[in-house]
Amino acid sequence: MAIVQCPSCSKSISSKSAVCAHCHISLGDVTEEQLARIASTKRVKKQQMFINHSFLALILFLGGFLYLYWQQPTTGTVQMALTKAAIGIGCFWYLVNRVILVYLKKKS
Ligand SMILES: [Zn+2]
Repeated sequence: MAIVQCPSCSKSISSKSAVCAHCHISLGDVTEEQLARIASTKRVKKQQMFINHSFLALILFLGGFLYLYWQQPTTGTVQMALTKAAIGIGCFWYLVNRVILVYLKKKS
């Protein structure tokens, strides 16, 4: 008996069980190959999600940066605080997503 991941809910279940104890999906008629395919589809979807996130983060970062460049908000104003926040969050968010993507690629 081995512990495997449920293809549907990703929780740990016994490879011998016919039904997932967590989400009650039927596992009896699912072959190893199908399980592998479901897992890889999930991984691609997950990667795609992080790619989308890093893209949004980049837009946020560039938006803040361009606003700073063109509008040149005065120091101490709300606009300046928002611009700095957008650049900071965008940069941080982007880096976090890149790290996760590298980690996901290594794992697969
Ligand atoms: Zn499940």
